[in-house]
Amino acid sequence: MPKKRTVALKGKDFSTQLVVDTTVLQVATEKVLTNTPQNLQDSTSVKDSVLNPEDKLALQKRGGIYKAADWATAINYDLRKPNFVIIHHTSQYSIAQTIRTFQLEHTQVSAHYVIGKNGQVVQMLNDYERAWHAGRSKWGPVTDLNSISIGIELDNNGREPFPEEQIGSLLVLLDTLKARYNIPQLNFIGHADVAPTRKDDPNVYFPWKRLAEKGFGIWYNEDYLSTPPADFNPIDALKIIGYDMSNPDAAIRAFKRKFIVKEVNTTLTDYDKAVLYDLYRKYY
Ligand SMILES: [Zn+2]
Repeated sequence: MPKKRTVALKGKDFSTQLVVDTTVLQVATEKVLTNTPQNLQDSTSVKDSVLNPEDKLALQKRGGIYKAADWATAINYDLRKPNFVIIHHTSQYSIAQTIRTFQLEHTQVSAHYVIGKNGQVVQMLNDYERAWHAGRSKWGPVTDLNSISIGIELDNNGREPFPEEQIGSLLVLLDTLKARYNIPQLNFIGHADVAPTRKDDPNVYFPWKRLAEKGFGIWYNEDYLSTPPADFNPIDALKIIGYDMSNPDAAIRAFKRKFIVKEVNTTLTDYDKAVLYDLYRKYY
């Protein structure tokens, strides 16, 4: 005899209480598992590598259900949208090499888009899927950048400028993503911003100023820098901008690679502090 329980529902279409039969809940749960092979339903230790993509998704969906709860499927939902864009250089030597890298399981890395030197844009994952591009990372209070970001890789060995065709294609893509997902200007950032102890991409040649002028990321008023007040604390300002200050030297280096460019080290000069103060005042 199935248990009966009463669930109080609030909302425009529900004026009465709904009696939910737990057998109905069971059926709903089974629906979630429809695509999960029987042999996987009893085991979570099956290696992902033996699963096809549909099985993987079914297993993940099952894993995301709180076991102590009953199940009743809601009908009003869609997929979560990306809210950040993280820009990378590949540190590789061709777009073909990078595509191959993202198609090999053992590399455990991927990105949504790869842009070649000639401006070719290759999409490798749907925007709604979670690519593995940011790795261990932090930006402000956000500690899982992969879950809320689009990753864009620029074909670049890490030590060379970015050709005009490549930047042109990037700007068109950023425009599309910003409009489609309503991504805030401040949320267009680089990999080194969110992983300053591990990463240095995109390299010093990346045109952050040009991007900021188009509404992607931030830049300072080069001609109107003013001296910060005596109580200005640059470490606090970097933290407020988003940098993880658990390693201040790494964060300062990332800041200088992006905004100072001509000198990348761990010392904040008076000029650097004026740049930081200007950004802080302008955007935060
Ligand atoms: Zn990167």
